[in-house]
Amino acid sequence: MAEMMRLQIVTPDEAFFDGEVSMVELNTADGEAGIYPKHIPMVVAVAPGVLKIHGADGVKKAALLSGFLQILPEKVTILAEACEWPENIDGKRANEARIRAERRLAEKNPQTDIDRAEAALKRALVRLSLVDGN
Ligand code: ATP
Repeated sequence: MAEMMRLQIVTPDEAFFDGEVSMVELNTADGEAGIYPKHIPMVVAVAPGVLKIHGADGVKKAALLSGFLQILPEKVTILAEACEWPENIDGKRANEARIRAERRLAEKNPQTDIDRAEAALKRALVRLSLVDGN
């Protein structure tokens, strides 16, 4: 059996996940990462993406939007601003957020905060990628 480590994910709303896992895949500020037990300790920023939790009963996916990741050899902790299981994602809301962000980016209005619009678009696309039909 694969070696296991504890994964804990906390959001402002809830204790999102707490369990034993064999591997975690996610996007960080430094790129895509696959974290196995016995990793060297580090703290990195989370980038929006699909989180893949590899456990004894398969792989669970969730939308992980932003936050921080603390890696210890036996434990990974994610402090997330938002994290959602696919069944809890409101596809309509995410699609509206996508349309809003795309419109802001297309307008080329000098007042527009481009970084903010791009970040909103990225969050929407991550959510939409986990909704049925995408
Ligand atoms: P919106 O513009 O629709 O508010 P957002 O990307 O700005 O989207 P966030 O700031 O990432 O939203 O999240 C704010 C809160 O709303 C979080 O608790 C997040 O889980 C929740 N949330 C945002 N969008 C969705 C969605 N499409 N489905 C379910 N929950 C969502």
